[in-house]
Order: sequence, then structure tokens, then C-alpha cells
Amino acid sequence: MEQDRIRTVLIVGGGTAGWMTAAALAHKLADTGIAVTLVESEEIGTVGVGEATVPHIRHFNASLGFDEAHFMSETQATFKLGIEFRNWGRIGDSYIHPFGVFGAPIDGAEFHHHWVRLHHAGQAAPFDHYSLPCEMARTSRFAHPSTDPASPLSTFSYAYQFDALLYARYLRRYAEGRGVRRTEGRVVSVDRSEDSGDVAAVRLADGRVLAADFFVDCSGFRGLLIEGALGAGYEDWSHWLPCDRAVAVPCERRPDSGITPYTRATALAAGWAWRIPLRHRTGNGHVYSSRFTDDDAAEAALLAELDGAPLADPRRLRFTTGKRRRQWIGNTVAIGLAAGFLEPLESTSIHLVQLAIGRLLDLFPTGSPDPVDATEFNRLMDAEYDRIRDFLILHYCATQRDDTAFWSYVRTMELPHSLAEAISLFRARGVVPLYRHGMFLEPSWLAVFLGQRMIPDAVDPRAARTPVPDSAASAQAWRGALVAQAASLPPHLADA
Ligand code: FAD
Repeated sequence: MEQDRIRTVLIVGGGTAGWMTAAALAHKLADTGIAVTLVESEEIGTVGVGEATVPHIRHFNASLGFDEAHFMSETQATFKLGIEFRNWGRIGDSYIHPFGVFGAPIDGAEFHHHWVRLHHAGQAAPFDHYSLPCEMARTSRFAHPSTDPASPLSTFSYAYQFDALLYARYLRRYAEGRGVRRTEGRVVSVDRSEDSGDVAAVRLADGRVLAADFFVDCSGFRGLLIEGALGAGYEDWSHWLPCDRAVAVPCERRPDSGITPYTRATALAAGWAWRIPLRHRTGNGHVYSSRFTDDDAAEAALLAELDGAPLADPRRLRFTTGKRRRQWIGNTVAIGLAAGFLEPLESTSIHLVQLAIGRLLDLFPTGSPDPVDATEFNRLMDAEYDRIRDFLILHYCATQRDDTAFWSYVRTMELPHSLAEAISLFRARGVVPLYRHGMFLEPSWLAVFLGQRMIPDAVDPRAARTPVPDSAASAQAWRGALVAQAASLPPHLADA
């Protein structure tokens, strides 16, 4: 490489991660003269699932200048207000983890402390009955949030559910329109520089050699560069998150049913099933643990969950939950499944792709890659993976189910210290680990703790100062206001 300038970037892989990276680089590096090429193999294809997102994706789309209505119609997208969890605390339970807050402070103490008190007094409705997006989800209503802090419509955010293949295609058109070159071909080997050990080029099955100054490994679970060539190593978390397989199948949407503005995650005997409503079909899948069930039984369990006729043969996937020990090494950064995988229970993979792209652009080397850039990138990604990991594990361990060996295992397994401490903190008197930004802030933890019956033993003294009837009246007034607000909103995608 010419000493102090990156002139060429090669992205290996054209799934959601590859094309999101290509689109963002095309946009951000437009005036730098840096040439971006993406190589992908149609023969290998993409993982082809990944339909539910979190609200941060809106910032990604906006940063590229996408028009929401156009993007949504091109990707068959629906709005997503949260996730409904069925059968997680106990069989028959249901709660929604919304993109929004619960209640409003009463006498200066946070709402959930009052809710705990009312719950102990037998006077509380389920926690998610005090959240506007949950009410909107249940009644299939949607409106965009308000920026007026006085409006109840300012208490939530939203994301999308879309066809991931169409999203990759949409990004591809954008990226190619801004100069990204796409090459079709199968990478068979990777050349490394003898001096630095950095990746120098990839070789394709037809003999072509693609050299570059900087590489982004978006090759999916294979991790062709980051693992195959650079041997980053993998931290395996399957003892905490034992699901290691999935079977996915799209199905017809029942003509009589509207399109629900939320994803559903139904706990099954050895894992859980997702249901993601799109405009043209419903996406379904079952994530399960091969230690506790087999592929045929898992497929049968999924097919029993569908609300319409299957539109394709079920597709089976295998994975190991965890992350690469280093996601940026030398002149190579791994993004997407090449970097790691946390099962899709909270729809976080595409978010992790977005986060990695954002940080890569912040740190994008102007000269030769500097090891401190890699250190900072790896620190951030490690912290984010760890935090999401703990939040996902919480869904499993905060269960009272003992009806199958799978649930007995996850209910009693040893937890990461960070999560065990967060649970102790909450159980004592409802204090949630404090995160000021990023994924899964206080309302998310509350949704799962309280939705899955992990109720604090004691009431926070700040809430205990208010007489119970006053707390109850405030909670009831809030609930009344949000029910009326939701009822005043239009049906979700009434025109779709
Ligand atoms: P892939 O889609 O696997 O793409 C890899 C690319 O590399 C392909 O283009 C492939 O052709 C190319 N490639 C591989 N090897 C070679 C080679 N030798 N030569 C040339 N090219 C090669 N995420 C969410 O955010 N929400 C969800 O709801 C969600 N659900 C999921 C459900 C399941 C069961 C799974 C497994 C994942 C889910 N994800 C979800 C994750 C999401 O699918 C991925 O994060 C996202 O699609 C990014 O994948 P990727 O681009 O990294 O990999």
C-alpha cells in the first residue's frame, strides 16, 4: 500500500451487511476519491432472513436520504412498535416490549416504582397496559411520534419489519448509483502481506485477484477474512444462549387479518418462534436448541404456528451464538454475521451492522490503519455485544417455566456476573442498570423484568411516600389517556 493513503476498499459479501456498508461508504466517502468494490457470490447466496429491526435503522436510512414511503413500499415494510412475548414467564402469559416508555413519574418517583407498590397491593393492571405503543400495537393503530414533549405521542419510537432481500436490493441500487462496483465471483483464498500480515488481496474461483488497501469482511457466518485468514478466534456463548439452529418459512397473510404493527416471539418447548408481518406475506421462524430437540420436531413445531399456507419450503440454518474475539484486525474489519451472532430474539443483528458501520466511518483510517483505531472499534463492539447478550439471556432466565428440559436448563443455568448483578439490583427494590444511550435502556429492562414476573421484593421509598390511592388514581388517569389516544389514531397501514 502507498504509505499513507487508502485508495481502495473491498467489501467481501453482499448480504444486508455488505450492502449497508457499501451504501454508507458510497455516501460518506463520496468526495475522497476512494474506490469501493463489493464482491459477492450468487451461487453461495445470503442468509436471507432478518426482517425485524429496531428504531435506530431510521437514522441509518435518513443519513442516506431515503424517503420513508418509497423505502417502505420497495421493501414491503410495515411499522414495528415492539415485540410481543408469548409464553415466556409462564405458558399463557403475554407482554409487549415496546419502543417506548411506561407511565409518567408520580410525585417525582419513576412510574415503575409506583406500579410495583400497586402490584403488591393488588391494584395494578399488567405493566404494559401503561404504555401507549403497547396499546397501539394491541389495537393495530399507528401514527408517527410527535416531537412535542407535552404530547403522549412523544412517548414512543418505531422501527420497521421488511423483506431483507428487498432491502439489500434497495441498498445495492443506491450504492451502485454512487459508484460502488459490484463483482460477481466466489472467493477461494486470501493473500496476506508478508511484511505486515495484513490482507492484501482475495482470489476468486475463476483466477481473478482483487487487491485493496482496506477490507470489510461481510462474508456471513464463514468470516472468510477475519477468521479464515486472520484467525480472530470466536467467543462461544452457547452455554448461556443454547439455541443454535433455526428453521424459517414465509407464509400467506390471512386475508381477514390486518397487518399487526409488531413482531411476535412465542416461546416453544425448546426455543421460540418469530412471526413478522410484512405487506405481502408473514415471515416465520423457529429458533431452537439442538441439545433439546431435533430438526424435524422443530420444523413441525414451526408449521403448527403458521397463520396461513407456507409460501416456500422451510429453510434450515445453523449458528453458534457469540462474537469474534477481535472484529477489526490490521486493515480488515468484520461486519454482520462475520463479526458474530446473537440470536434474533430482539432483532439486534442489523442494528449491530449499523453500529459497526457508524464506528468504522468515525475511525476510518486516513492513512495506514492505526492499531488504536482497531482497539477502540473492538472495545465498542465488545461492550455492545456483551450488553445485548445479557439482555437476551434475561428473557430465558426470567422464566418460571419448568415444563421441558430446555426451560429447566435456562431457568437454572449459571449467569454472566454482569447479568446476575443486574438481576439482584432489580429484585431488591426495582433499580435498573443505568445505560444512558445505545440499545436497551431502562424501559426495555422493565418490560422484560416485570412482563416475566420478576417483581422487586421491596418498594422504593420515594414511591412509598405517596398514598396508594393517589398512585392508583394517577396510574388510572395515565391508562385512560393512552387508551383514548390510541383509539383516536388511524389503523396501521390502512391502505396496504
Ligand atoms: P449473509 O446474508 O450470509 O451474506 C454473506 C454474503 O457473503 C453473501 O453475499 C454471500 O454470497 C457472500 N459470500 C460468502 N462466502 C463467499 C465467498 N466465498 N465468495 C464470495 N462471496 C461470499 N437480523 C435482524 O436484524 N433482525 C432479524 O429479525 C433477524 N432474524 C434472523 C434470523 C435468523 C435465523 C438468522 C440466522 C439471522 C437473523 N438476523 C436478523 C440476522 C441477519 O439476517 C443478518 O445479520 C444480516 O442479514 C446480515 O447478514 P450478512 O450480510 O452478515 O451475511
